[in-house]
Amino acid sequence: MTATHVPGLPVIEDGQLISTNPATGAEAGRVPAADEKAVAAAVERAGTAAAWWQSIGWEGRRTRLLRWRTLLVERVQELAELTRRESGKPVDDGIVEITAAVEHLDWAASNAKRVLGPRRVRTRLLLAEHSGHLEYQPFGVVGVIGPWNYPIVTPIGSISGALAAGNAVVFKPSEYTPVVGQWLADSFAEIVPEHPVLQAVHGLGDVGAALCRAGVDKVAFTGSTATGKKVMAACAENLVPVVIEAGGKDALIVDEDADVRAAAEAAVWGAMTNAGQTCIGIERVYAVAPVYDRFVEAVVEKAGKLRTGTEIGPITMPRQLDVIRDHIDDALARGGRAVLGGAGAVQAPYVAPTVLVDVPEDSSEMREETFGPTLTVTRVRDADEAVRRANDSRYGLGGSVFGRKNAIRIARRLRSGMVAVNGTLTFVGMGNLPFGGVGDSGFGRIHGEDGLREFARPKAITVRRARSLLPAMTFERTPAQVQQIVKALRLLYGRKP
Ligand code: NDP
Repeated sequence: MTATHVPGLPVIEDGQLISTNPATGAEAGRVPAADEKAVAAAVERAGTAAAWWQSIGWEGRRTRLLRWRTLLVERVQELAELTRRESGKPVDDGIVEITAAVEHLDWAASNAKRVLGPRRVRTRLLLAEHSGHLEYQPFGVVGVIGPWNYPIVTPIGSISGALAAGNAVVFKPSEYTPVVGQWLADSFAEIVPEHPVLQAVHGLGDVGAALCRAGVDKVAFTGSTATGKKVMAACAENLVPVVIEAGGKDALIVDEDADVRAAAEAAVWGAMTNAGQTCIGIERVYAVAPVYDRFVEAVVEKAGKLRTGTEIGPITMPRQLDVIRDHIDDALARGGRAVLGGAGAVQAPYVAPTVLVDVPEDSSEMREETFGPTLTVTRVRDADEAVRRANDSRYGLGGSVFGRKNAIRIARRLRSGMVAVNGTLTFVGMGNLPFGGVGDSGFGRIHGEDGLREFARPKAITVRRARSLLPAMTFERTPAQVQQIVKALRLLYGRKP
C-alpha cells in the first residue's frame, strides 16, 4: 500500500500506471504505461498475431477460446477479488459480472463458424449461370477501448466477438481498472502463448486516442457519449469503422397489471447493483397511477435495507461523487422529494440508496446519466404517457417493463436497443442476443450474431458455373439479347404486387 495515493485516483509514476482501491486508497496494482510508440508497436505485433490466429482456423480458435472460458470459471473468485480491490465492486457483483462474460465467450466461440463461415446463397434467376457465396472475413486488428464500471464483461463482449471472428485485439482498459485488464490479457496468453493475439496497453485517455490512430482496422469503444464522439473523430481520419457502446438513462415502466413487489425488487436491483454504476442501470421509473403508491412503498422498503460498504460498494471514480450530489441537489431544488436518502446521501466514497419522487423532467437527475444508486419514480396516467416520457431522452440503451397484458407491446415501443419484460438487465446475460443502443447510447452491436458480424467484413463471391443465356454484362451482347433481357425483366418483375 502506498499511503500517498488518493483513493480511486490512478497515477502514473516512473512509467507505471498505478491504480488504487476507491474505498481505501490501497494500491491495487501497477502496469506499464504505454506511449504512442508502444501502442503502435503493439498494433504491429497484433498484425502478425492476427495472421497466425486466422491460420489456425475455426476449430483452433474455438478450442482455445473455450479453454480461456474454462480458465475464467476456474479463477472466478480470484478475478472477482481483484476487481473488488481495484474498482470497489462487491465480490458477489463481480461473480455475476464474470458469469455474463463467460456466457458471451462461450457463445461467440461456439457459434462463430456457423454465423460467419462460408455459405452458398440462393441463386437468383437473372444471374442463374453464377453461384453466389458469402463469408465474413476478420478485419485484422481490432482496438477495444473499455470502461471501468464493468471491466470484465464489457470488454469481453467485444473481445470475444473480435477473437472468435478471427481478429487479434489490442485492448485499452480504463485507467481506473488497468490491472483487471492486464489480468485478462495475461490469462489469455496462458492459453495462447504462441502469439500476442490479445494484448493490453495502458495509460490515460491519450493512449486510447493513440490506439484509434495506430493502424487498427476497427475500434470497439465502450464508455461515455462524449468520449465516443472523440473516438469517432479520431477514427474518421483513416475511415476506421467503429462500434460505440455509450451511456444510458434507462427507464422502467410499471403497468397497472404488474406484479408490483417483483417490479420494486427489480427496480432496486437494476438501479443499485454496482452502486448504480451501470450503463443499463435503471435510473427512472414511470409507474401508472393505480400502482404508484404501492410501488413507491415497496421500493423504499427494499432499498432501505441496502447498506453502503456491503451491498452498495464505493463509487469507483471520485469525480462522479460530485455529479451524483449535483443531480440529487438539483432534483430537490426543483421540487423533487427524497423518500429515501437524498440530501447528504453522498458520503465519499459511498452514496446511500436514494429514491426521489416528483422530480421534474427537465432536471439533471432525469436527463443525464447519474451513475449512482439513485432512482426517480414518477406517477403517470397510463402506459402511453409512460412510454412518451421514457422515450423523451437523448439516450436509448436498455429499458424494462413490468406488466402482463400489454408488456411486450410496450417493450416494442420503447426507443432503445434492449428491453427486459418482468426483469431488469436480463438481456445482457444472453449470449445470443445483440447488445447496443440508439441515439446518444451509440450504435453497432456486440453479443450474439450481430455482435459477431460487427467484427467481420462480409465478402461476396460469385462463381460462373455455365455460359450466360442472357449476356447482359458484356459489350458482346446484341440488340436482340437486350430485348430478351427486357422480356425477362417484365416476366420476373413486371407484375404489380
Ligand atoms: P470514458 O468515456 O471516460 O472512458 C472510456 C474509455 O475511453 C476509457 O478507457 C478511457 O481511458 C478511454 N478514453 C478517454 N479519452 C479517450 C480518447 N480521447 N480517445 C480514446 N479513448 C479515450 O467512460 P468511463 O470509463 O467513465 O465509463 C463510464 C461510461 O461508460 C458511462 O457513460 C457508461 O454508461 C458507459 N458504459 C456503456 C456501456 C455500454 O455497453 N453501452 C457499458 C458500460 C459502460 P481513461 O479511463 O484512461 O480515461
